[in-house]
Amino acid sequence: MLSKFQKNIFLITAPSGAGKTSLIKNILKYANIREKKIFLSISDTTRAPRQGELNNIDYCFIDRLKFKENIKNGKYIEHAEVHGNFYGTPKANIEQHLEAGYKVILEIDWQGALTILKYYPDAQSIFISPPSLEDLSKRLTKRGLDSKEVILKRIKGAELELKQKDHFKFQIVNNLLDTATENLINIIFKGNNG
Ligand code: 5GP
Repeated sequence: MLSKFQKNIFLITAPSGAGKTSLIKNILKYANIREKKIFLSISDTTRAPRQGELNNIDYCFIDRLKFKENIKNGKYIEHAEVHGNFYGTPKANIEQHLEAGYKVILEIDWQGALTILKYYPDAQSIFISPPSLEDLSKRLTKRGLDSKEVILKRIKGAELELKQKDHFKFQIVNNLLDTATENLINIIFKGNNG
């Protein structure tokens, strides 16, 4: 393991609907404008694409058989079942990008983040919370991407997920997107990460 680059791994965890995707979009925009080297890892998932999601950009969408085969072949540094679907982080690319001086962002659930911290104890772990569970419920309903049943499942999951936040080095409450973005920029680019 390349311990000297571990600090450039940023594990970003949040219950779905906490605004993580918008935050990461802002981070990529910031990095792009300033020509900063940043690499957002793309996970494999067995979840069906949501409206507007693209294969190999948002996720690599694969079936369960392929996912199991990939586990057997050691493709993933970590994998987890989240809300009934499987998600896995490919090993390839992470080390290469670290060595080439990139900051590597992994957008994964709390289980995945804790697994990665076993490999890379100095990775930066960041937990994004919604202002409240009511707010989360409103956001999930408003974005209109999931069925009522799925939304209920995700809110139940969020209650559990929020209990994990103390395992994370940094905690950001996504109340105002601009403020939360600024906090994240400070952690990732301005070295306010201990
Ligand atoms: P969604 O289905 O809303 O895109 O993602 C559901 C959850 O799975 C989110 O918390 C997301 O961060 C997490 N997730 C996405 N990719 C991975 C991965 O590769 N590994 C793990 N452990 N979780 C992931």
